[in-house]
Amino acid sequence: MIKINDNFLNLQEGYLFSIVNKKIKDFEDQHPNKKVIKLGIGDVTLPLCKNVVEEMKKACDEMGDINKFKGYGPEQGYEFLRNKIVEWDYKSRGIELDVNEIFISDGAKCDVSNILDLFDTNNKVAIQDPVYPVYLDSNVIGGRSGNYNKGNDKYNNIIYMPSIEENEFVPDLPKEVPDIIYLCSPNNPTGTALKYEELKKWVDYAKENKSIIFYDSAYEAFITQKDIPHSIYEVDGAKEVAIEFRSFSKTAGFTGVRCAYTVIPKELIGYSKKGEKVLINKLWGRRQSTKFNGVSYITQRGAAAVYTEEGYKQIKRNIAFYMENAKTIRERFIEKGYKVYGGINAPYIWLKLPEGKSSWQFFDELLEEEGIAGTPGVGFGPSGEGYFRLSAFGIK
Ligand code: PLP
Repeated sequence: MIKINDNFLNLQEGYLFSIVNKKIKDFEDQHPNKKVIKLGIGDVTLPLCKNVVEEMKKACDEMGDINKFKGYGPEQGYEFLRNKIVEWDYKSRGIELDVNEIFISDGAKCDVSNILDLFDTNNKVAIQDPVYPVYLDSNVIGGRSGNYNKGNDKYNNIIYMPSIEENEFVPDLPKEVPDIIYLCSPNNPTGTALKYEELKKWVDYAKENKSIIFYDSAYEAFITQKDIPHSIYEVDGAKEVAIEFRSFSKTAGFTGVRCAYTVIPKELIGYSKKGEKVLINKLWGRRQSTKFNGVSYITQRGAAAVYTEEGYKQIKRNIAFYMENAKTIRERFIEKGYKVYGGINAPYIWLKLPEGKSSWQFFDELLEEEGIAGTPGVGFGPSGEGYFRLSAFGIK
């Protein structure tokens, strides 16, 4: 008899955005003449920039040319793109990385969940609360979560690190020491970015405890304040404890094209059951060459076009446009009397709701009264209750 992975039965409800989508669709069906302003789902709305499109067209032509056609590419990604990442995203900020520490993939979503293949199921996991739901769900599927406790809306074996108004959305170091720590900065959904000292505190903690940090900086390109680090490797010693995930999705509008990368420094080690040191970089290379066949050549050529003077200017223009939206949304809700967070180093605005108002209740009211769809904070974790996320991507 075929047995399923029972961990799937341990997942809670449907995926947050499917529920939001359904509610919007029902509203649209009932009010065909009302236009809904969709500030819910974090998808981009501006098209790819011209340079990227032109480069992809050229790559397409090559694929139809008998002398230039390319089949399977390197699983880790083409060097032309990895070299650009090393130069433009890291060297320019004083961080030295080797090209073999960069792994191109088809999305940070896949990488932040696939990376778990490398780690023992008994590792203790800590996540920010609220946060991008994929970290939690992929650990549920992987069997690290323990059972779900309806009483407190938490899994028994996960360390939840509240990131709330009281701690300025910066999680405190947990009392119980985790093996795996997910940090998302700039944060989805709170829009908060960790400062150097805060990041250093985490790096030191991970070093002291031989833990690993999964640092998701999918929104790095949206940082506007000068004192906010763009990479965890700006902190001394971070290469020994952190994997960094980045994506072209929000940076360059690749949500539908699919391209991202993960940085695994050679200094980063894990331990086998026997206590031997193992290079995580090597393990990930092995994992990728076994389960992944690389990102399309055309896509990688498009991504490389971001790292040209003109391409960079174009993506920065789009980002500035979204951040202008963020400012408008922020001001609008401040005027309405809300406490508003985020929207300065991230494309997300995080509203604190009036005492006693549930985030789903606010979702329904805002949709009904103003035709604005956002995302209920509780969908990102129990500490998101009483908050509401608005995305700056929705207006074009
Ligand atoms: N990480 C965070 C924090 C996100 O918010 C998202 C998308 O919303 C992703 C990763 C997914 O990125 P990708 O499109 O590269 O899979």
